[in-house]
Amino acid sequence: MPMSEAFSRRLRPVLRDAVEHFGTPFHLYDEQGISDTCAYFNETFAGLPFREYFAVKALPNPSILEIMRSHGFGFDCSSLPEIDLAGRVGARAHDVFFTSNNTSREELAAAAGRSALINIDDLAVLEKLADLVDGDHPVDTLSLRVNPGEAPSENVFLGSPQDAKFGIPTHRLTEAVIRAGELGVQHLGLHMMVASNVLRVAPIVRTLDILLRHATMIRERTGVTVEFLNLGGGIGIPYRPEDPPFDLAALGRELRTALTGWARAQRTEIPRLCFESGRYITGPHGVLVTRVVNRMSKWREYVGVDASMSSLMRPGLYAGAYHHISAPWVPDGPSRTVDVVGSLCENNDRFGTDRELPELTEGDTLLIHDTGAHGHAMGFTYNGRLRPKELLLRSDGSVQLIRRAEEQERDHFSTLVFPPDGLPARPHPHSHHRRAAGSLHEATLR
Ligand SMILES: *Cc1c(COP(=O)(O)O)cnc(C)c1O
Repeated sequence: MPMSEAFSRRLRPVLRDAVEHFGTPFHLYDEQGISDTCAYFNETFAGLPFREYFAVKALPNPSILEIMRSHGFGFDCSSLPEIDLAGRVGARAHDVFFTSNNTSREELAAAAGRSALINIDDLAVLEKLADLVDGDHPVDTLSLRVNPGEAPSENVFLGSPQDAKFGIPTHRLTEAVIRAGELGVQHLGLHMMVASNVLRVAPIVRTLDILLRHATMIRERTGVTVEFLNLGGGIGIPYRPEDPPFDLAALGRELRTALTGWARAQRTEIPRLCFESGRYITGPHGVLVTRVVNRMSKWREYVGVDASMSSLMRPGLYAGAYHHISAPWVPDGPSRTVDVVGSLCENNDRFGTDRELPELTEGDTLLIHDTGAHGHAMGFTYNGRLRPKELLLRSDGSVQLIRRAEEQERDHFSTLVFPPDGLPARPHPHSHHRRAAGSLHEATLR
């Protein structure tokens, strides 16, 4: 969507200097906007036992994670590098929720070793945990990721849960709870995320309803009380100008009603409510700043810019993904319908199609909006187009480099520097002197 009035007011005085000083392209994030959204998130659920674990994958930069930390957020991590990044800003033990899937034994051991809150995605992973516990890693708190089989509403972007690779299917949930008890787990939680970028409250309320239903079932069948419920991420932002904003206050009211009602009926305490929101927290507070390299007329009209989809993959990756584009300094005049494209040898390397923009020329600056989540983080280096720098617009109006741009020698070619390694040549398979398989194997090992 067009960036908020507040972000625009803060950006206007510094943008020209930032473009000149740092050069384009870059992602720039608005500290005040992020911080205000963090505070609003906490206010919305105030009075409930609540914690947000910021989804690190959305914007994995320590300077951003510091902001989360200052609001008391934890961190949702899906890999060890993400756990270690959270550790760099002081996250300890249960500040980290480890929601991975297809988890390896090594990853699980490392996460348990760092005392992260482990979210189990499958019974096979639970058995790996059993081996660890035997090996003297007590796990007293555990979360189970639930795959409900039923969709919490139509039109949720992650598709039918029965086709999703995530989570423990509900018909095996009791089995998982019993197994967790055998492993000495004292505090149990449930997790479910089946929606992505939703703009309506209903699918998230439904997620809670489904989890509460299963919490009741678990109590009846096993006597175990579920102590926390993690509703995942998936709260959406209005990327298109006509999209309605997500009504977080309404979500707060509805979740509060459902949780207090359940606790009263069950004669127990209100379970702790957790989110792992990423997009909602940082998405609208970032822009990709880029400049026009070429204005091209082919069968269609093109504006070629100095960023490409290696800096922002969403439009190329998800059909229909939209990012608003504006030209801050080009005077309003007759507009043109253009496609805004990068330089990759991929036809889907385009930030926007059929956009009404003022007549642009080489050197003009463009802003691609809402790049604060799943933007730079999804970057890649195909075609040797390297990832750009990241800047933070501080609340005091200063602008700080928080990640440098990638460089050819230092980064892109760095994995081509290594000590020689390999396996010796093998005898030609059609040679008359071919040996038996067994002796070939021996020869290689020797
Ligand atoms: C991606 C993801 C999130 C964050 O999703 P957003 O849409 O950015 O809120 C949270 N939890 C899990 C398990 C995820 O995979």
